[in-house]
Amino acid sequence: MYPRSFTPVKKAEQYRACKRESLKFMFDLTDTICALSTASGRSGLAVVRVSGTKSIEIFGKLFQRRNRKKKLEPRIVALGNIVDPDNGGILDEANAVCYFAPKSYTGEDMTEYSIHGSPVIIASLLRAICSLGARLAEPGEFTMRAYLNGKMDLTQAEAVKDIIDSNTLFQAQVAARQRSGEITRRIKPIKEALTDIIVQLETAVEFVEEDLPLNARETVSGKLESAIKEIRNWNKVNKAGQVVRDGFRMAVIGRPNVGKSSLFNALLKQDRSIVMDLPGTTRDLVSEYTSIQGIPVQLLDTAGLHISLDTAEGLGMEKTYQAIADAEAILIVVDRSLPPGEEDFKIKSELHKLSCIVVINKNDLEARWTPADMETYAGEWPWIEVSAKFGDGIDRLRSIIFEKTFGSGEIQRDDVLVTNLRHCQYLEALEEEMVRAAETLNDGMSEEFALVHLHKGLKNIGAITGETSVEDLLTEIFSRFCIGK
Ligand code: GDP
Repeated sequence: MYPRSFTPVKKAEQYRACKRESLKFMFDLTDTICALSTASGRSGLAVVRVSGTKSIEIFGKLFQRRNRKKKLEPRIVALGNIVDPDNGGILDEANAVCYFAPKSYTGEDMTEYSIHGSPVIIASLLRAICSLGARLAEPGEFTMRAYLNGKMDLTQAEAVKDIIDSNTLFQAQVAARQRSGEITRRIKPIKEALTDIIVQLETAVEFVEEDLPLNARETVSGKLESAIKEIRNWNKVNKAGQVVRDGFRMAVIGRPNVGKSSLFNALLKQDRSIVMDLPGTTRDLVSEYTSIQGIPVQLLDTAGLHISLDTAEGLGMEKTYQAIADAEAILIVVDRSLPPGEEDFKIKSELHKLSCIVVINKNDLEARWTPADMETYAGEWPWIEVSAKFGDGIDRLRSIIFEKTFGSGEIQRDDVLVTNLRHCQYLEALEEEMVRAAETLNDGMSEEFALVHLHKGLKNIGAITGETSVEDLLTEIFSRFCIGK
């Protein structure tokens, strides 16, 4: 039971609305902004966007619709000419769309011009729009306005950037789910549980003379425990979310001639074109980017590992050890057409603490390893027989790599993965505050101690969805966007 004046959901809504109103004063929303939203350079088409109170007025002065007798309809594409406001000359033939507030991306009046992608036409159009009262947008300003106008929360706004930055389809899909508000939906029951607990404890502190009776305390503790369980499970999954976003390095190692380079090439055959930067990699090694079931992976091919070394090989080996140290995952390749050798076992013994997958190569040739040899060699590690030369088993190997990356199978592809480091950190801090609150309650301490932690937890949630965000945080987030978004 809540006191009459305190209905948490209503309060939260009011708070959110107030917060947005106050933030609007921090950022100038009175200007009309414009930008090229597509990539710069020469292209077939380019899209220029305008948002703000003057957008429609500028449209009227700039754009001559082919069919002027027809009423201007929002969201309907109109064909026409863009005319130079200075001299009435035609700048380009274009398609244009008007959106009326609040039914637009930013929640303001907006227009979008789809023009030919010549840098000269783009520059002339932007100049013309500015001469009619708009200004060039700052990076991320369209999405910031969308956020400030309540069109999306902060997790959705940040996901827009992740969609644009995605390198693999899987990354784009995860970001698109976040854009649709998935994180906020997942966080909602945790937030409601937390609010409920806070209200119960606050009520006890405010209205009851003594501490909460034991049975009521037990109910609160029970609720808190199940909320902790929920957030704990989610945080476990989120470790994988980081991998989806940043990818990982994987070294291919083994004796000379076991087929490391062949395996490297077999794994690269698909999705070879992905480009991404993972800092700190040993550059002299052969390395390429690929995607393994949507996870960006930097593959490192290495020199063969030997027991006895001459100097030249010693240098190559040093780089191999460097690659092993750099990599988050390792593929140990062995050749099953030769009997298991001392060198294979030496390699294994040096790597026993690392996360490896054993690839038993050349399965098209007669086997000199028995299944028992393979089992014994792999031990705790997963293993698979493949033919790097003919491609047999490579898809299965990709699945094993994916499964190993995503842990023990608790994580599903359609889980709510939090890929944003900022969100992950706040969710971890939230778990910590909730655990501390539970500890104080279990230790029989007064409710006020638990409340301190629970309020901090709620603040962490607010920082994720943007309800308690501050100017610095917003500027930080939106400054990382590209111009025109
Ligand atoms: P690395 O020295 O470990 O990088 O091995 P390579 O990839 O250069 O391969 C060494 C030799 O093994 C080459 O002649 C390859 O064609 C051959 N090879 C690699 N993989 C296979 C395989 O799966 N089956 C067969 N039959 N030969 C393979």
